[in-house]
Amino acid sequence: MRSLLLGYLAGAAAFAVAGASGGAHAIDNCNRAYWRQKMVGTLLVDRDHMAGARGSERRLSNFEAVPEPKRILGPHTEVREKIVDPWRLTVMVDAHNVVVDFVHQGMSTGHSGWITVGVAAAVVACAAIAVLGARSLRADHERALRLRSARKKYRELLRELSACKDVLGIVDAGLMPGAQQAAMASEEVLRLMQRIDGVEPAQVLVAAGLDPWAEHEEQSRAAAARGGLAAALEMAGDVRAIRKSLIRKAERRARRLDALATATIAADGHAGLTMAATAISELPFNKDRIYINDQWVASAGSETCRVENPDTGEELATVPECTGDDVDRAVRAAHAAFYDGPWVNEWSGAQRRDALSGLADAIEAHRGEIEVLESLNTGKPITDVRAELDDTIDLFRHFAGFADKVQGRHIAPQANGAFEGYTVKVPVGVVGFINAFNYPICLLAWKVAPALAAGCTVVFKPGPQTPLTTQYFAHLVHTTGLFPPGVFNVVLGGATVGQALVDHDLVDKIGFTGSVATGKHVIRSTASTRMVRATSVELGGKSPGVVMPDADLDKTARLVVSGCMANAGMNCNALTRLWVHRDVYDAFLPRLKAAAEALRLGTPQDDATEMGPLIDRRQYERVLEYIRVGRDEDRAQLLTGGQPALLGRGYWIQPTVFANVDPAARVATEEIFGPVLSVLRPFDSLDEVIAAERRSDFGLAASIFSRNHQAIAQFTRRMRCGTIWVNAHNPLFSYLPFGGFRNSGFGRELGYESFDGYLATKAIIDDITY
Ligand code: NAD
Repeated sequence: MRSLLLGYLAGAAAFAVAGASGGAHAIDNCNRAYWRQKMVGTLLVDRDHMAGARGSERRLSNFEAVPEPKRILGPHTEVREKIVDPWRLTVMVDAHNVVVDFVHQGMSTGHSGWITVGVAAAVVACAAIAVLGARSLRADHERALRLRSARKKYRELLRELSACKDVLGIVDAGLMPGAQQAAMASEEVLRLMQRIDGVEPAQVLVAAGLDPWAEHEEQSRAAAARGGLAAALEMAGDVRAIRKSLIRKAERRARRLDALATATIAADGHAGLTMAATAISELPFNKDRIYINDQWVASAGSETCRVENPDTGEELATVPECTGDDVDRAVRAAHAAFYDGPWVNEWSGAQRRDALSGLADAIEAHRGEIEVLESLNTGKPITDVRAELDDTIDLFRHFAGFADKVQGRHIAPQANGAFEGYTVKVPVGVVGFINAFNYPICLLAWKVAPALAAGCTVVFKPGPQTPLTTQYFAHLVHTTGLFPPGVFNVVLGGATVGQALVDHDLVDKIGFTGSVATGKHVIRSTASTRMVRATSVELGGKSPGVVMPDADLDKTARLVVSGCMANAGMNCNALTRLWVHRDVYDAFLPRLKAAAEALRLGTPQDDATEMGPLIDRRQYERVLEYIRVGRDEDRAQLLTGGQPALLGRGYWIQPTVFANVDPAARVATEEIFGPVLSVLRPFDSLDEVIAAERRSDFGLAASIFSRNHQAIAQFTRRMRCGTIWVNAHNPLFSYLPFGGFRNSGFGRELGYESFDGYLATKAIIDDITY
């Protein structure tokens, strides 16, 4: 700093020698020479330098305006280059006959007539600088080099980042409006900056022209107060201008990507899809309201729930957290629709069938928007969500087919023919549904489609983490106008809202999906209210798989990995306990490890992504804790994974496989609900497996991989669980029932059994002799 002042003083001395007419240019040339010789190609402009210079030479006050050059430019001013970035700044100003040329290894090309005088003056000035300011210059120079190297590292990181489509994947996919893209990019860059030792993130961001946010600006100012470096950067770059231009750039990019994505999607046959940017910022319904009695109404309270994108941990939206009054309003609407409205009293089964088919068509017409919304809200890979939408549409069509086939039985005449007896099936009434977070729209269809087909009316509460596609569904019910008011209603929120629904005496049946602990609580509650009510509970699992010695090991390894890791392991029927026969144990483990490691994690909206993040921080921490238990307490061998993934964003965990796990260990017996597979110790006989599985708390699903029909029959006959796959794990179909034994719950979803669960039986006895 002192050196620059001395430089200016030397320039002023040269000015005096050169005479009044040529003095200004002598100063100019001194400065140029100063920069040229001493800064070795790196320019630093420091406000402190300027302050020193200001006192020594009036004309140098022009320097003060450098950050906003436009304001000081006169008619003869030539701007060769405006601020390109803080590292390369050229501003030529001759309003006061002074040329300031801050150029990376450059010299002004104008005013050549003064060059000779200037060079002479420069020699004098530089000699003074070299002697008096060498140490200070070296310090400046070193700082510049440090910053340069930080910048280089930054660029490398950014390249790395773009290459692996981490943060900017979402930008690449055009899934956020421009401002949000900019915010995400800058936050991620900040996180990465923390990996560069000894450099203030804010400084590097400013230096890279990538710091759009006021808080960072403040950081740079704070840094400026501590030293010259940040001040220099601040001086060279107008942070506000950079922010604006960054946002403009991001918005332009988002528009281009929008157009591209719309074209791609149109080619893909998903008519009507707009991009996720639209899906979030221009939702076709009012997400701040709740859908009750065919109206979007405000909640009676003012509490809200934060809805996140688990990929990034960013907030996607907020929705109302309902109150007991809201629940009461929704239940009364459903009650009035059931007991007093036309839905059951006037409509035929065929009319209900047509309404459900129409709803399936509406879902299909808007599936693109629903898919993007679901993927953003759950972090599910978009390809998985597409399959879930296929199922959702199929479920509504499948159950529409049941609506006009409600059947009773005729009983042979009794008491010497005096009595005619027959049964009729009637809808159960008002059903309160409480859903888990893990398959929001698909599980909604599992429940709502058969209930409406049976003639029930519904109050539906989604998991608090994933309400957006439920709201979208309500929007379709509303806009299609296919149902009488009050037939379908939504309440939003967590445990308190669920409890209010469970406790409401006008609810005739509770359909619950969730954890064992909450399920048990719900069962107790439904029995302790004034009215007992029908209840079905679909709860957790710890589903075993068995690899027999004759299994195709390569194929089985891939099936086991997808059986466990699908939906990032947040699957009630996930294959999480694997039995491998001793004869093939050592050959199978490397294949399993390779298959787990081959899973592609990445931006969920990217078609290539195969596994997404955990749903929220709570689940993420729970899964990491189980991994610690597996390693430290269960002493299991960690075959692969065990760490958070895609650091610096959202709730990602690597696909994790433990081997040689004791069948009684915690990781082998408790539901983890994450991408964690326990390969148990090798087994020798199927009897051993079946005996151990009888001791399991759960009974949701199981699978066996073999072509040995005797082994398969032994397994399917003796295992006590609701679904048994042979040479597969996970596929489910609308027409096959799904449900549990033991702690996995009771009642059945899907298939005729599910439809039947929303019907009650009446017996009619008629004395025909009367
Ligand atoms: P959870 O038990 O935490 O919550 C489930 C639902 O219950 C949520 O909507 C929650 O708000 C609500 N709730 C919480 N406390 C309540 C109370 N006191 N009264 C009424 N409702 C209450 O479960 P989760 O974390 O959302 O889901 C994961 C669990 O769901 C796992 O155990 C998984 O196995 C299970 N699940 C089972 C199936 C199945 O078909 N068997 C399907 C999906 C998920």
